[in-house]
Amino acid sequence: MRLSQLPWTTLKETPAEAEVVSHQLLLRAGLIRRLTSGIFTWMPLGLRVLRRVEQVVREEMDRAGALEVLMPAVQPAELWQETGRWERYGDLLLRIRDRHERDYCFGPTHEEIITDLARRELRSYRQLPVNYYQIQTKFRDEIRPRFGLMRAREFVMKDAYSFHLDQDSLDTTYAAMAQAYTRIFRRLGLRFRTVDADSGEIGGSRSQEFHVLADSGEDAIAYCDADGYAANVEMAPTFPPAAPRPAPAAALARVATPDSRTIEEVSALLRTAPARCLKTLLVEAADGGLVALALRGDHNLNAVKAERLPQVARPLAMATAERIRAVTGVPTGFAGPVGLDVPLIVDHAAAALADFVAGANAEGFHHTGVNWGRDAPEPAVADLRNVVPGDPSPRGGALEIARGIEVGHIFQLGDKYSQAMHATVLDQDGRERIMTMGCYGIGVSRIVAAAIEQNHDAQGIVWPAPMSPFDVTLLVLNPKNSDAVTAAAGALYLQLQEAGLEVLLDDRDARPGVKFAEADLLGIPHRLVIGERGLKEGLVEYRRRRDGAEEKVASSDAVAFLVRQLAATDPG
Ligand code: ATP
Ligand code: MG
Repeated sequence: MRLSQLPWTTLKETPAEAEVVSHQLLLRAGLIRRLTSGIFTWMPLGLRVLRRVEQVVREEMDRAGALEVLMPAVQPAELWQETGRWERYGDLLLRIRDRHERDYCFGPTHEEIITDLARRELRSYRQLPVNYYQIQTKFRDEIRPRFGLMRAREFVMKDAYSFHLDQDSLDTTYAAMAQAYTRIFRRLGLRFRTVDADSGEIGGSRSQEFHVLADSGEDAIAYCDADGYAANVEMAPTFPPAAPRPAPAAALARVATPDSRTIEEVSALLRTAPARCLKTLLVEAADGGLVALALRGDHNLNAVKAERLPQVARPLAMATAERIRAVTGVPTGFAGPVGLDVPLIVDHAAAALADFVAGANAEGFHHTGVNWGRDAPEPAVADLRNVVPGDPSPRGGALEIARGIEVGHIFQLGDKYSQAMHATVLDQDGRERIMTMGCYGIGVSRIVAAAIEQNHDAQGIVWPAPMSPFDVTLLVLNPKNSDAVTAAAGALYLQLQEAGLEVLLDDRDARPGVKFAEADLLGIPHRLVIGERGLKEGLVEYRRRRDGAEEKVASSDAVAFLVRQLAATDPG
């Protein structure tokens, strides 16, 4: 592609609406443009990146035996009513009405559509297993669309759905998908981890996520390289402390803490470490009342674990200040286990405390020297908190925590949808059997953003070679000044293409400084510069984007040199 023929506008300034670096760089490099909140246009250079990602995904899905289809984006409400998700899916679902007043949605996912297709198309166990996939536009009316392509409303997903007669067959396809995903992210040149995951709204049993590792990731991942364990922090269990609870040593005392409500304020005032303070959180209970969840002050509540408790309302809802005052008679910030009159569930680590600080259930007061069994009843205990670095891994090692961006998710759905929609086949004995299902998603457009979050520097994007919009950029210095330079660049441009490389020729009439800066911003892994002085000596200048390594190369050897560079940087 000749840049002189592309209306390409880059931005020097960081757009104010862009909080994360991928969003900033995608806008600055002119790869996407915002239409409205969470909805973007892919510009010519950006679309090339998206297409490259799609291509790798498609090749690996095909290799794994999945069959590509393309389902409609607009879905009739009736199918969603069959599974009960028309009501349950909530406000993420963009609902549409047609001229006949019939209800539809713009698909946020396709379980209902594929299950309807399968119950019509599949008759016999002989047709199983089958795994259909598509690469398609989804719409989710996210509450806070943000971070550009990372959490968009309209985005591109690869979704696949498999159908089986039994669990063994599902296990086989699930394993093949896990392997295909590993190949995809490896081929794309991304650093990633596969983690155990919560299966969330989609339901079902086994589930794993694939995370691109980046400090800006919204998810926290707990892992131990020594024993191979990795899970979303949502899922990683904690265990009761090995050491027994110390015996009480201090007397219970009531102290005035008029302006101290948070753990930080209370621990600072009373000169007690947050780890020796009890954090008592009031949440809505399943029975319509409130339930108290208590943790060590230095630990954080895990919403997924809390929601699994039968006493707790789903979805998890923190009690409002008014509710807390109405039910306990005390303002927020002073709840504690001594004399509390709502049910209390305590995290393992908090249940192992002795002589701790807690709210006194009276405005402006806390207790010190609190002990379970003496001052408050022996508590009901559960795993309520997020793991922290150093916590034991379920496989015996010690956990570390990293940040990740979820780019893929695979689930075993079981019969959740096939049962609700009566998707059956006839088995060997001619009996009707409900099919078992798996589903497998990849955030294709999110991968583009995640790759930038992981691969950038102060100058701009540093594409992993397999995702770059071009293999190489050929930069011509002052083309207007020299016909010889223009001719040589044109010839090299053709030779590189003949060697199978995708080349961006910067033949614009622009200042060299602008061209260099924009090449760095765009982040193509390899750059060749051709200018008058070098040409006289028969040389072109090579520069590698990632580490800035430079080399002067004989013009005659430039093509072979680049082919070697490309082979060296291709992770596939
Ligand atoms: P998240 O937890 O990030 O909201 P999810 O678990 O709801 O995502 P899935 O239903 O598992 O998403 O969808 C499959 C993949 O689609 C996700 O792994 C993610 O990469 C991508 N994805 C989901 N929501 C968005 C979004 N709003 N914008 C871009 N990509 C998304
Ligand atoms: Mg998910």
